[in-house]
Amino acid sequence: MEFILLNSYGNYVEAHIAKGVLEEEGIASWLKDENTVTIDPILTNAVGGIKLMVAREDAQRAWELLSALKKEQQQKISCPKCGSHQVELVSTPRKVSNWASALIGFFITSYAMPVEKVLHCFDCGHEFGAETNEEDKSIDS
Ligand SMILES: [Zn+2]
Repeated sequence: MEFILLNSYGNYVEAHIAKGVLEEEGIASWLKDENTVTIDPILTNAVGGIKLMVAREDAQRAWELLSALKKEQQQKISCPKCGSHQVELVSTPRKVSNWASALIGFFITSYAMPVEKVLHCFDCGHEFGAETNEEDKSIDS
């Protein structure tokens, strides 16, 4: 059986969600370079992410399933305040509460990300964390 590259993922969780969806539909798949990426995320770009491989004859159907999954995930994101689907991932400047945290941010570069991603509701203006939503999804499935 010949396997071809269907999609590649920058992180382990996304790759496994996709693989799980295909398995439910009886499509065999496997993850290439999974170990490399998980052990050393810096290598992710070098190896091109975690590669989701499927049999050539399943590729078309698998791709359709993954497209549907992506749409469904977008639909699932709704504002916790008003329930609107008019939400989009936006970047907001990180609020620096005081000089101390600004200095810490300066020295610890990994925490000095100038922006953080939030989901913004265009109906009521409510903003909420993207991470919270990710967790909700994994509990559902
Ligand atoms: Zn809202």
